[in-house]
Amino acid sequence: MDIYQLIRSHLAGPLRRRAFKSPWAYRLLKQLVAAQKKRYSWQAAYELLLNTIDQVAAAYLQQGPVVWHNVFFPTEILYGLGLVPFAPEAAAAVAVGLGVAEEAFRVAEGDWVSGESCSFHRLAYGCDRAGYLPPPGAVVCSSHLCDAAPQSLAAAAGYHNVPFYLLDVPHRQDAAAFNYVARQLKSITFSLADALGVPWDQERFQEALLASNTAREHLLAVNRLRGQRPACIRGDEAHGFIYLMLAGFGSGAAAAVYRQLAAELEQRWREQRRAVPEERARLLWLHLRPYYPTEIFNLLEQKAGAVVVFEEMHHVYWEPLDPARPFYSLAGKVLSHHGLGCISRRIEAILAMVDAYQVDGVIHFAHWGCRQSTAGLRLLQDALRDREIPFLNLEGDCVDKSKYAPGATRTRLEGFLEMLRAV
Ligand code: SF4
Repeated sequence: MDIYQLIRSHLAGPLRRRAFKSPWAYRLLKQLVAAQKKRYSWQAAYELLLNTIDQVAAAYLQQGPVVWHNVFFPTEILYGLGLVPFAPEAAAAVAVGLGVAEEAFRVAEGDWVSGESCSFHRLAYGCDRAGYLPPPGAVVCSSHLCDAAPQSLAAAAGYHNVPFYLLDVPHRQDAAAFNYVARQLKSITFSLADALGVPWDQERFQEALLASNTAREHLLAVNRLRGQRPACIRGDEAHGFIYLMLAGFGSGAAAAVYRQLAAELEQRWREQRRAVPEERARLLWLHLRPYYPTEIFNLLEQKAGAVVVFEEMHHVYWEPLDPARPFYSLAGKVLSHHGLGCISRRIEAILAMVDAYQVDGVIHFAHWGCRQSTAGLRLLQDALRDREIPFLNLEGDCVDKSKYAPGATRTRLEGFLEMLRAV
């Protein structure tokens, strides 16, 4: 039984909304998870789940000022202020597993939220208006990469009548851009502290940056191990750790989970425990995956032996942070994202991943409504074709399962696998 089945079987119907605000529900949930510890094939995944439950509990039980953020905002600032970060986009993915997506989509549709917009935000909107999300004390958002987040989060701040802080990120990466972003980050940090009545604690802030650096180091170790042949972890399993990239940096938990994952990968590598019995092809996955059950990974990895050995979302694109210059180095992190600015930056980063992970093919999951990920794909496809790397642009929706077409998806995957065999 997976975690979502577990929760659904214990928290059914109208009880669910109230259960989110009840400490006993989190205690019970942790006990249920702990009772199934042996069934987790990765101890790191088990630890990640326990940490995530704690973080969710902190938000719903309002154990500190809750700050909503989009997944590209540097969360080191929030952990450094001792706040409780909460990412509505990540909550939308969880809502799918909890079986509240259909209700939430209906609520969003009833409020005329456009079906053309990204479903992560539509779903988060519906969950919020249906009373499933913990109310924020403030909302922060970065403007880079995602054009849906600033509008969506500004509307959420207005609905809850709380302050909204937008980090405006330019497309350039020159000194003026660094200074511009660093000044805004500093201003947002102290404005948040003022608005939420949080005392400034220099030591705590620096600890968050150091924790981020430690997590980065362990993630680099994980990524190095994933570059080896044969793969020791399936993409299906590795995808679960992406949550930390989106909401965990700056917390001690992220560093601990990556350290554990690196240790387990190292051990499996020494014991030559393979991700699949026979590795026939190695794949790179771009953007996210569907968060509802599909046969995609089963078909690729278990049946065809085509292992997703790396995800673009796990790429470490930034340099270590400097606690002595926190805002400037966080500005550097934001501006270093390979998806920011000219498409050649993303293409270059993806080609480097192709080499580092020795991949035979690339799959891009084209999430409906996501312009940042799908724009420029033609140029990426051309660059991969020049290198004779098969490429599949798989269209779908990460959280709206009504857009999933199993037959068409299977046909496209089978065609892609044929192409891989022919290379
Ligand atoms: S999928 Fe794209 S549009 Fe949707 S939240 Fe993520 S970056 Fe934004």
